[in-house]
Amino acid sequence: MKVGCVRRRERVAVIGVGVLGASVGWNLSRRGAEVVFVDAGRPGEGVTNWSFSWVNAGTKTERRSYFDLNVAGMAAHRELAETIGPDSWWYPSGHLRWAGDPAAEAKLLETAELLTGWDYRVEVCTGAEVRRRLEPALAVPGRTPVLFYPDEAWVHGRHLVGRLVGRAVESGAEHRSGTAVRDIGTGADGSIRTVTLSDGSRLDVDAVVNAAGPGASRVAGLIARHLPMRREPGVVNRIGCAQAPVHRVVHAPHIAIRPDGDASVVLHSGEIDALIDTGEDPAELARLLHESARHVVPELGDSGVVQTVTQTRVAFRPIPADGFPSVGAVPSVPGYYEAVSHSGITLGPVIGGLLASEILGGKRDEMLADFRPERFPQ
Ligand SMILES: Cc1cc2nc3c(=O)[nH]c(=O)nc-3n(C[C@H](O)[C@H](O)[C@H](O)COP(=O)(O)OP(=O)(O)OC[C@H]3O[C@@H](n4cnc5c(N)ncnc54)[C@H](O)[C@@H]3O)c2cc1C
Repeated sequence: MKVGCVRRRERVAVIGVGVLGASVGWNLSRRGAEVVFVDAGRPGEGVTNWSFSWVNAGTKTERRSYFDLNVAGMAAHRELAETIGPDSWWYPSGHLRWAGDPAAEAKLLETAELLTGWDYRVEVCTGAEVRRRLEPALAVPGRTPVLFYPDEAWVHGRHLVGRLVGRAVESGAEHRSGTAVRDIGTGADGSIRTVTLSDGSRLDVDAVVNAAGPGASRVAGLIARHLPMRREPGVVNRIGCAQAPVHRVVHAPHIAIRPDGDASVVLHSGEIDALIDTGEDPAELARLLHESARHVVPELGDSGVVQTVTQTRVAFRPIPADGFPSVGAVPSVPGYYEAVSHSGITLGPVIGGLLASEILGGKRDEMLADFRPERFPQ
């Protein structure tokens, strides 16, 4: 189905340059559109820099279409790594997970069976095999079943954004950072005409992409659109190490750990996220994360391995109210498009490609049918 689309060489403002904005903008730019990236801060330094950044579909089984979109997201990352090079952003090293009690273990194995039935690769190993073959530093009991998901990965979000924006700029894209979009103007027919920035400048444009992450609801409000979003903060802690003691994403009971390059690790825990709204001090949240991590990777308690520099940040997940992405055109405002999603690290490249095709060619891909912005009425 075709909707009003942007002809090549017309001008598109991408509002927000995290993983989603960078992916859409790069795809638009390489297909011939004139792109202006606008970011209130610096590219890649929003949620994208404070994400656990794990690329997966294995936890997205609540709806088959959402699982399929995430599988497409994993494939889009592999393709992107071939196109632009993996550099310092793409780490396809797989994922390990085990449970801490029999009920959780039974649930994990049940999900693994479902995933295998959906042609998603999962291997069941023992803790002893994992320590021997993959991660010698893990304190996982030898007989515990551990699931290994070989096709999952992690991404350095800020490096990926830098790479995509750099490529787009080489193709002629313009880039404004440190200035927010504070107004969006429409013509008499209701279609997008201008964006006004907080530095006072005004850009004439034919379309805008709202990729403002947690700020997307406010940007939607500039065209009098209500985009309801959840409030779900999360905390991650980045620890500098002499050498990262793990090589891939690990989900142990109570804590998730991944490398963040050769000399740091990132820690996250849903249980500790739940303490954010109790007003707990971020330094205490970081201490709790580190404490949990030390039980799984004892080296993280060794002062010869861990260096003192740690960074902790509470970030808000950009989640539309029903928990699913909001991607595509809003037909009542020609030229306005949304790219707002949790799991944006996994989904960035696939959403970028699909949305660019929709903006430039009017092609509404079936894969996005369940995730259209129209499901949130004006
Ligand atoms: C704790 C945590 C863990 C997560 N773990 C994972 C994971 O393991 N895997 C996964 O796939 N996803 C994960 N996510 C989700 C993922 O990080 C996000 O979905 C993704 O980073 C969102 O990217 P974005 O480009 O939409 O937002 P952002 O990276 O926040 O970019 C939005 C940009 O918009 C700019 N902006 C906002 N308002 C304006 C304005 N008015 N004008 C101009 N610019 C504006 C901001 O400055 C910002 O740079 C996690 C999120 C959190 C918080």
